[in-house]
Amino acid sequence: AVAAYSPLLANLNPEQRAAVTLPEGHALILAGAGSGKTRVLTTRIAWLLQTGQVSPGGILAVTFTNKAAKEMLTRLSAMLPINVRGMWIGTFHGLCNRFLRAHWKLAGLPATFQILDTQDQLSAIKRLMKQHNVDDERFPAKETQWFIAGAKEDGLRPRDVEIRRDDDRKRVELYQLYEEQCQREGVVDFGELMLRSYELLRDNDAVREHYQRRFRHLLVDEFQDTNRLQYAWLKMLAGNTVDGRFVPGGNSVLAVGDDDQSIYAFRGARVGNMADFVREFHVDHQIKLEQNYRSFSNILDSANHLIDHNTQRLGKNLRTDQGPGEPVRVYESPTDFAEAQWVVEEMRQLVRENGIERKEIAVLYRSNAQSRVLETALFNAGVPYRVYGGLRFFERAEIKHALAYLRLLENKEDDTSFLRVVNFPPRGIGARTIEQLQDAARSAGTSLHAAVGAVSGKAGANLAAFVARLDVLREQTQGISLREIIELVLQHSGLVEHYRAEREGADRVENLEELVNAAESFVTQEGFGRDAVALPVDELRQSAASQGIDTSQPLIDEALVAPDAETGETLSPLAAFLTHAALESGDNQAQPGQDAVQLMTVHAAKGLEFDCVFITGLEDGIFPHENSMSDRESLEEERRLMYVAITRARQRLYLTHSQTRLLHGKTRYNLRSRFFEELPESALKWLTPARAGFGAGSSSYERSSWGGQRAGGAGGWNYDRDSLAGAPVPPQKAAPAHGLRSGMQVFHNKFGEGTVLALEGTGDDARAQVKFGRHGVKWLALAVAKLTPI
Ligand code: ATP
Ligand code: MG
Repeated sequence: AVAAYSPLLANLNPEQRAAVTLPEGHALILAGAGSGKTRVLTTRIAWLLQTGQVSPGGILAVTFTNKAAKEMLTRLSAMLPINVRGMWIGTFHGLCNRFLRAHWKLAGLPATFQILDTQDQLSAIKRLMKQHNVDDERFPAKETQWFIAGAKEDGLRPRDVEIRRDDDRKRVELYQLYEEQCQREGVVDFGELMLRSYELLRDNDAVREHYQRRFRHLLVDEFQDTNRLQYAWLKMLAGNTVDGRFVPGGNSVLAVGDDDQSIYAFRGARVGNMADFVREFHVDHQIKLEQNYRSFSNILDSANHLIDHNTQRLGKNLRTDQGPGEPVRVYESPTDFAEAQWVVEEMRQLVRENGIERKEIAVLYRSNAQSRVLETALFNAGVPYRVYGGLRFFERAEIKHALAYLRLLENKEDDTSFLRVVNFPPRGIGARTIEQLQDAARSAGTSLHAAVGAVSGKAGANLAAFVARLDVLREQTQGISLREIIELVLQHSGLVEHYRAEREGADRVENLEELVNAAESFVTQEGFGRDAVALPVDELRQSAASQGIDTSQPLIDEALVAPDAETGETLSPLAAFLTHAALESGDNQAQPGQDAVQLMTVHAAKGLEFDCVFITGLEDGIFPHENSMSDRESLEEERRLMYVAITRARQRLYLTHSQTRLLHGKTRYNLRSRFFEELPESALKWLTPARAGFGAGSSSYERSSWGGQRAGGAGGWNYDRDSLAGAPVPPQKAAPAHGLRSGMQVFHNKFGEGTVLALEGTGDDARAQVKFGRHGVKWLALAVAKLTPI
């Protein structure tokens, strides 16, 4: 009865309120775009906490992107004065990483395990195939990568994969070799994060029971895009059931989704998980939400009309009380460049005349390659913009090179990193030498680092010099801060020097410098290593604010690590930062406060909303994508993608297409997208391009704007510098309470005598880096580790 009066419920309709206040048990909310699914999920967490049904530590919520996770945490801390750190809210990958960091030993991983992103994975596979003389015409590396990822998504190890074709035998063999290579090098790919955690839960009763007891409420957003393994993982964690049936007092699962927005089939997502969930969990409550709160009716009608052309649907309705609003505007242009120009011009008007904030404007496209021409136009016009999900900061070549050096400091065995930088910057180590080294390592069964001695002559000397340089760096980085480590590595790896000498290297040097800032804000903002601090959130925010930390961002720590209960040992700040870099999805790029237009693929826009949305490149072969036009199922997935795109818009929607497009170096003549035929004529307004836009007129238009690029370009970069000038002040260190100083001799009951090299953090977060005689250098959490000065 108390709950009924909670202000949390004031802004919900009756169906939403029913969903938020469901009694324990399993539930499914199946509802269309913009009907408040995510709002319900977030409010339910707040409601469960407020009514004392669960403590923050008993919540596990899965979102689709890191951005969504952060948004959820921000909203929660606005709704309730709670400490959000104890909650497990994140993506499947983020949560599995957190889990494996805490149980690395049981999972059979080294404490410093590193994450291979998709690019690294591909190069690791290529390397492996070369070593084993696999014909890459017959077995392209990309295909092998898909094969391995697909097997993992289905929860299959090499021995479990069913051999259906002759070629499968080879693929399974490669999968096996790849696994051995990863294990040897101490790296895991994204699929492995998931599969390892699943297997650990499955095989270790104590661990499974611990988490089953802990997580009383499991909530999953965008459930339609979960894959087989994620579903199995969830089922394992839910536990406490008889035949999957909910038992009073057990854990409750709330799944939230929309079958019309299932757009990740190509990555193993199974919309069938929804039906399986209802059946296998004996779902007690199913709730439909039919009121759309996001869009005006012209936009919503367009979406409804379009999706009605799909045959495989569970069937839902969506209505809105908002009026028709602006018509959906359609614009056809002669060239992709002119299309981009028009979009930018229209945007500027929206900002100038309609007072729309730039961050409320999104430009969506089907594939990443389409962003370049838009970026050029925005750049020329001096409009600040941000690209999500393109080449993200941590994926840029120069950053990956720097990270490779850092990873080698943490883990000598990391062969992928070794190969990335052994001859970068160039130091006279050729392909032949590297092959020789690889042969030696293979026959000795060691890492490349360990095999260096086996190569003789001048080449051997060069290799030895490289390894010696790394060893010296490793020695020098002991006892210094993360920031200093990175500065040292940038200098001594020769990377900065190398790019300075390059003609177009200035950007890259700036990016490398930005890496230092990224590390700095990781340590302060993410509060490295802070585990479930028992501070009220106000106090936490106050103390953060007094350190100059941007508290508009939630204070969370993706790479959060519980120290070993017995010894107090924890991950080093560097290892935590490297993990963060590998998981960072690029959705919080630099310049937080700046108002910028948002560019992203439709896939990346899922779950988000904007006042104004431009969907560009609406041409057959682009959207729908050319690979998806021939069979019905793929075309239906494209249509769902279009449905997602349209339903991102609140007030204004623009659909644009171009007669010609320069893509992958070729001019293409495309027909208008077939999706236009599936939209309601009454909601659309066709704009005719000015005649001057065609033919010769258009090319002179382009030329004159290219001429203007220099001036506009300079303005664009100044923008960035200005905002960097206002970068946060470095935090003040509070006086340490533990009484330790660097240089001090201490005693640890397991590791013996050692010397304190460095200290980090304050209060419960304080940690020390200590060099022990026999056990080497370790990071210890002082709240746990007993260190006595001697
Ligand atoms: P998607 O399928 O795109 O993920 P969704 O179903 O998760 O959409 P939300 O993002 O939760 O929808 O909600 C869409 C918008 O409607 C949000 O701006 C939300 O704040 C608003 N909204 C939801 N419910 C209500 C309500 N009862 N009253 C007013 N606004 C609401
Ligand atoms: Mg949502």
